[in-house]
Amino acid sequence: MIKNIPFSIPDIDETDILAVIDVLKSGWITSGPKVKEFESNFQEFIGLDVNAIAVNSATSGLHLALEALNIGRGDEVITTTLTFTATAEVVRYLGADVKFVDVDEKTLNISVDSLRKAISSKTKAIIPVHYAGLSCDMDQILSIAEEFNLKVIEDAAHALPTTCNGDIVGSLKSDITVFSFYANKTMTTGEGGMVVTRHSDLVKRMKIMRLHGIDRDAFDRFQSKKPAWYYEIIAPGFKYNMTDIAAAMGICQLRKLPRFLERRQYLAKRYFDALVDLPLILPADDTTGGTHSWHLFVIRLQNNAPMSRDELIQTLSDQGVGTSVHYVPLHRQPYWRDEYNLTNDMFPVTDRAYQTMLSIPLYTAMSDEQQDRVIQVLREALA
Ligand SMILES: *Cc1c(COP(=O)(O)O)cnc(C)c1O
Repeated sequence: MIKNIPFSIPDIDETDILAVIDVLKSGWITSGPKVKEFESNFQEFIGLDVNAIAVNSATSGLHLALEALNIGRGDEVITTTLTFTATAEVVRYLGADVKFVDVDEKTLNISVDSLRKAISSKTKAIIPVHYAGLSCDMDQILSIAEEFNLKVIEDAAHALPTTCNGDIVGSLKSDITVFSFYANKTMTTGEGGMVVTRHSDLVKRMKIMRLHGIDRDAFDRFQSKKPAWYYEIIAPGFKYNMTDIAAAMGICQLRKLPRFLERRQYLAKRYFDALVDLPLILPADDTTGGTHSWHLFVIRLQNNAPMSRDELIQTLSDQGVGTSVHYVPLHRQPYWRDEYNLTNDMFPVTDRAYQTMLSIPLYTAMSDEQQDRVIQVLREALA
């Protein structure tokens, strides 16, 4: 009897464990040298002209990004409902409003047509989500942003590493890009995130707001004259810093990321080959000539499938195969639905996709044999 196959487990080995132990023994466990090293390695990974700011989650990072871009009351920010609530909730933290739009049928990324139609005089920013790890059509989004003078904050929680027309996400011409190191993402620090930008004024503001509104520059500049305990608060900041414990893991995981990507690409290719004849819509790939990070492998049932999505999830579960649904769209979530009077028919593509979709296991710690088992159970259910 083959053991149950969970939907996702993090890929943590002895090197991650030893790195964390080193920090625990070092006497310095909060933000310190490991965070600096992780930021510098991450910068090198994305491109040396960007700045990387480590935070305790992508949610914190998105909040810092919008705050630094001066998003506030009376402003509107456009995003999709096929995302995690974090993408949108940060807009509400600042008293601004979210304008939700539908996704593209093929890629499940933001529909560029719907985006264009949703722009009003109140629109200040767009948050494109690189759904499942496939890049949005950033050329079009960035050109619309330029035309209407909008800020672009990429929610790249799924997109490490993803490329768009050969350029790695994080190095594109948007204002700020935010990555997540949550436990099920393509690399993890337990909880954590990284904010990336080229703009030094935004770096300065986000670093200040990351830690209680303490102005480090003022502190550093004067510390030769003032005692070491002296600091200045210039704003009611947040507590969003990453610990050295998490950063030590991040340094290790980042080193393994190219190998992780290869493994994910290999597993994705095997799914494509094994599932192509089933009544399924398989994920879109390479729409922008890019690399897919394969954070998620989302399949959709075709109309002629012999069972419903819920029945398929139950069948897989009965056979010990874990799955998930990404996502119950925000227009179906009580808070968002009621706050903005959203109905399912306002998002026909997202809503149809939601009713037919499931995410099947794809992670680096999954063996070929485990994947064969997932394929076998899917084939028995659908062939
Ligand atoms: C995971 C995720 C987030 C939030 O990341 P955290 O690091 O858990 O805060 C935001 N957006 C999307 C699309 C995500 O999948």
